[in-house]
Order: sequence, then C-alpha cells, then structure tokens
Amino acid sequence: MEKIDPWGVSQIKNYQAMREQFGIDQFNFNLEGNRFSERSLLVGHRDFQLIKRAMERKEKFYAMTGLMPSGEMHLGNKAVMEMMIYFQRKGAELHIAVADLESYVTRDVDLESAKNIAIENFLLNYIAMGLKPCNFYFQSESFRIQKFANVLSKEVNMSEMKAIYGFEDSKKMLEINSPLIQASDILSPQIYGEPAPTIVPVGADQDPHIRLTRDISKRFSSLRIQDSKGTRISIGGKADAELAFSAAEKIMKKHGLAQITKNSKYRTLESPGRPSDQDAFNLDLVREEREFNPLATVPPSSAILRLETGIKGGKMSKSVPDSTISLNETPQEAGKKIMKALTGGRESVEEQKKLGGNPYNCPVFELYMYHLSESAADLKKVENECLSGTRLCGGCKKEASELMGEMLTSLKEKRESSRHLVKEFMDFGSK
Ligand code: SF4
Repeated sequence: MEKIDPWGVSQIKNYQAMREQFGIDQFNFNLEGNRFSERSLLVGHRDFQLIKRAMERKEKFYAMTGLMPSGEMHLGNKAVMEMMIYFQRKGAELHIAVADLESYVTRDVDLESAKNIAIENFLLNYIAMGLKPCNFYFQSESFRIQKFANVLSKEVNMSEMKAIYGFEDSKKMLEINSPLIQASDILSPQIYGEPAPTIVPVGADQDPHIRLTRDISKRFSSLRIQDSKGTRISIGGKADAELAFSAAEKIMKKHGLAQITKNSKYRTLESPGRPSDQDAFNLDLVREEREFNPLATVPPSSAILRLETGIKGGKMSKSVPDSTISLNETPQEAGKKIMKALTGGRESVEEQKKLGGNPYNCPVFELYMYHLSESAADLKKVENECLSGTRLCGGCKKEASELMGEMLTSLKEKRESSRHLVKEFMDFGSK
C-alpha cells in the first residue's frame, strides 16, 4: 500500500500500485512538444481526456496550480510550472494561488514575508520560464476564495479529512481547513466564471487534493450520472425536481437518447441507450445544470507528474535543502551539491566500464531527464553511454553541474530583466 502525504518527504515506490489503489488512470496521451509526456514522466491522470479534447477543439479550459511561499522555488516545483506554461500556450486560462495562509500556519511565515517570497522566488522564476500574465493571487487577500471554502466545508466532515490526509487531533484548524481552501482555488474559476474542464498538473504526492476536490464537486451537483448499463441520472441535493428533470431530459434528447423513463419517487431519469460521446454529454449536463444550480462544476482533471528524486535520495523537497537545488542558487552552490549526489554507478570504475551504470536508479540521470537534456537525442546519448559503461559518474556529474550552471545563470538573467512585468501580474489578479 502506498501512503501519499502531500506534506511529507517520502518517495512513491510503485506508481502502478498507486494507480490501482487510488483509481488513477495511466497517462497514455501524447502531448506534442511536452518533454514530460515525451519522457514518460507523466504517470497518471484523472479525466485528462477532457483537457485533450478542449485543446484540440480550442474550447475553453482552465489550468490551476498553487505555490507555498515558505522557501525558495526548487527544481521539484519547476516541472509543474512548465506544465502550466505548456497549457497556457495551448489556450488555457491560468489561475495561480499563493497559499500564504497555509505557509503562515504550517511554516510560521508571516503574510508580508510570504508575499515577498512568492514574488522574488516564484513569480519572477515563472516569468523567466515564459509565463504570461494570468490570475496570480494571494489566498489571504481573496475574500471570494475564503468564502467559497466555507461553502464547501458544509459537505466535508472530519472523518473524511482523517481518512484522506491522516490528520491527527493535534492538527490546527487552519491546517485542517487548508485542503478546503485549495478545493476552493481549484473550483473557483468555474464558480466565478463558466463551467469548463480544469487541469491541475500535480506531483503524485498531491493527488489527495484532487480526489477531495472531485468528490466535493460531485456532491454539489444536482444531476448525477449513476452506474448503469444504459444512462441513469439521479436528481440529487435540494434541486427543484421539475427544473432538474427538464434539464436532464433536454440533454438526453440532445444526445440522441430515446425511451426516457422518469421516476418521480426515486428522482431518476433512465434510458437504455448511451450517448455516443460520453464526455460531451457530461459537459453539456453540467452546463445545463448551471442554469439552476450556481454550484455545478466539472470535476477537475489532473495530469500527475512522477516525483523527482532529491539528489541525496527521497523526494526533492525544500525540507531537505542538501538534496534540493533552488532556482535562486548560484551555479557554484548547485554544482557542489551535484558533485555529492547519489548515483546509479558501480562500486569501482573498472566494474562500471565492464557492466555499465544504472541510470534508472540515479538522481543525476533524473536531472538530465527533467531539466538538462533539451532534446530526446541528448538524453538517449547519456542513457546509452551510462548503460554501456563509456560514461563514468564523475564526468557525468561534472557535465550535469555545468549544464545546471548554465540553466541557473540564464534564469537569473531573465529574472532580472523581467522584474518590470511583476506589476502586470498583480494588476491582472485584481481585475
Ligand atoms: S554515469 Fe551518470 S547517469 Fe550513469 S549512473 Fe553515473 S551519474 Fe548516473
């Protein structure tokens, strides 16, 4: 059994087991021009087909992420932002929440310091990486996010939070509440805008937040599709039955479903058939429901990234600074860490030349995979040389240090030349 702790530092050992345990689908989509997809670093998804569909048809979709302003942005945070930028280029409307309330309660960072960290360590790096203006906001300043989190809390109880997060009695109330604030972040673009698919790219350790938010979204819906050989919709909540029946019937007919049977006692509508395009049917149902239920949302989708290994093992996390490289570090500092990294090398040089190394259990190879090899051919070269024993760990780490130095230097230069753009993000958020 995999235990997933969004705030912990342990690595996930078996992604197949994780998918089976938590009902996550394998990521089999090919995202052109996305290195994480091309290098099989996307290890799962929930309803990603809705996002693929929106991208292909140029339909509206949102992309959402958050950042915890309690330290420097590191390599482990970079992949999620690259995914966000990818979705922005593909037409997504972006929302980025600064979880300053969470860093206040869990890391004792006051709100003013959190703001400074969010801008200096995160936003400037995001802009340097290519992010364009979008809704970048602070949870503590967003009344509507907090208000909606309170609304959501109506449908979640403590035993559920304990089951998902393993919360113990010693947890502070704001910590317990923080997943609800995140759920509010994720659903708010639809609540305050129109219902549409929402992609949340996450590290595998963040899946509990997606699970909770999807469940909450479904609980607030009135038109609920139930398991059935055909199509069965139950009218949930306190929805006006007649309004709900007529909305559901309209969409069933629109999608060619016939022989619709209405059961007023059990508040259900049934048809023996199934829509030919189930995703379009589901989306239409939410849009139609929105006419009478302001809390109807499309459950968020996720693209789940394999967790990057820290250079000393474990999960790359700011809680373990020696194992993590921050984007604001100097090339010298980063280089020193890389030279001390764990590797998949053999006991001796002779053995490595004879048997080759193991790049699949090597944090240095991961640096190439996630950050340093620009092309698939570059990465293949490192892999083949390692496997054949023509590449030795000392030289490999030195090369990785140099490439990392170039990347950090380039980011620093771009950060400095991007500072004037920060205001655009702040203004955009207040629009
Ligand atoms: S040669 Fe490079 S990729 Fe291979 S095990 Fe050593 S450090 Fe890792």
